[in-house]
Amino acid sequence: MRPVLRGDCPQSSDFSDYRDSFPELVSRIGPFCSYCERRIATQLAVEHIQPKDGPNGRPDLKGKWENFLLGCVNCNSTKGAKKVQIAEVFLPDRDNTAAAFNYTMNGDVVPNDSLNSTQLRFARNTLSLVGLDKRLDQVLDSNGNLVAIDRVAQRMEAWLIAVESRNDLELNPSDSFRRQIVRAALGHGFFTIWMTVFQDNPTVRSLLIGAFGGTATDCFDSNSTRTISPRPSNGLADGSKV
Ligand SMILES: [Zn+2]
Repeated sequence: MRPVLRGDCPQSSDFSDYRDSFPELVSRIGPFCSYCERRIATQLAVEHIQPKDGPNGRPDLKGKWENFLLGCVNCNSTKGAKKVQIAEVFLPDRDNTAAAFNYTMNGDVVPNDSLNSTQLRFARNTLSLVGLDKRLDQVLDSNGNLVAIDRVAQRMEAWLIAVESRNDLELNPSDSFRRQIVRAALGHGFFTIWMTVFQDNPTVRSLLIGAFGGTATDCFDSNSTRTISPRPSNGLADGSKV
């Protein structure tokens, strides 16, 4: 889960219509779901970290910039109007979510091995909150080929594309091809999958961090080789838990 820096509220007061914050959010942190990392061409929406309605709703935070991220239909609908204990989940605007989870070639997102028992619980809470712990929903077409229509299958697909890109880079180790890889990553989304596949290539990792606008650069060391955890505080409540 890509750690992001939303920055200060672009206006002096809360948003009277939260939807008006959408262009600025996309401009600041890119057209990606803040939770599943997919690039969403349409129907990406302003996501309220604390739900705006329902029994757990916080109408006082409905127009509050600090309560906004971007969410896809799947993550949004799984999260729904659940109460969010910010102190017990990892959030990409205040924690180093890059240090919290591992991504695998099977499309799984799992807690990082290095987490302590408290952090492990928070990591599981987070995955459950938005359904990133859901299993693959196998869908085959009429020819028996896997169709990547759910988030797990789409992560598997992105992983394969990233691995093929890494293999091609070994054959063609040029700056122009590195830039092409970054453009492909921006087109697909799944920042962390690309970062994972290029774990041993700090040059590409640095390009990825720079290209995905709004990535919290203080979550990575100067060589882009490892994550900085806990994340330096950015003043948001209950942050720096990882
Ligand atoms: Zn999502």
